[in-house]
Amino acid sequence: MRKKLIAGNWKMNLGPTEGRALIAELRAEIDRDAANLARDREVLVAPPFLTIPAVAQALAGSSILLGAQNAHFENKGAFTGEVAPAMLKAFGVTHVILGHSERRHIFAESDELVGKRVAGAIANRFTAILCVGETLEERDGGRTLEVVLRQMQAGLAGLKAESAERVVVAYEPVWAIGTGRTATPEQAQLVHAAIREALADHFSRPAADTIRILYGGSVTAENVDSLMAKPDIDGALVGGASLKAGSFAQIVRGGSSAAG
Ligand code: PEP
Repeated sequence: MRKKLIAGNWKMNLGPTEGRALIAELRAEIDRDAANLARDREVLVAPPFLTIPAVAQALAGSSILLGAQNAHFENKGAFTGEVAPAMLKAFGVTHVILGHSERRHIFAESDELVGKRVAGAIANRFTAILCVGETLEERDGGRTLEVVLRQMQAGLAGLKAESAERVVVAYEPVWAIGTGRTATPEQAQLVHAAIREALADHFSRPAADTIRILYGGSVTAENVDSLMAKPDIDGALVGGASLKAGSFAQIVRGGSSAAG
């Protein structure tokens, strides 16, 4: 069984004080259910870099995991504005989101750069959450799978079989992020199945069967159950709805044996 992973991407929201307050609320919602939830799911929050130390402190003793929204592939050097894997390790970060569409489209991160970041994160023993997804224009042009599989190939380039256990993929159609427009469960499942095939080609079939493929793009408490019911949807990467404890906790419980 693949444990579901529900990851909250706070993006450039919530400073240390606000982050600490959200964690306190989330812990009240999630930690009381922890034993139940832990049977089939993991919960992760990815605050902005400068909020990470406060959140790390606020998470002491919690089952909630700590992630970052990006990382450089080197551990030091002349890389102005970047953050090294070792710096994140020092605060207990275990997962790194890489290749988010906002990094690709607003900050022009290339497929190749994302691949280097993924390899660097894994070499530093993080779990890499590799984000892939097509724009609306690419979808309308019938190029969804071509784009997603190209991003997958570049993102995984150089990873050997033993790295598979440190890989999570997030399928996030760009047209669904922050727009309130979600892919239908059927649209998402089709792409997730193709991603799993690509993972089997790159690693092996058994490895592909263990890798979590998350869906992201306007996930809410209302649509999470139908998405998670699909066989290749193993969790969610949640933006907007992860900024409020109530909505995020509802998503965490979505489709869970702990629901209700
Ligand atoms: C995201 O930031 O990865 C995301 C999916 O955002 P939202 O849930 O707000 O669409």
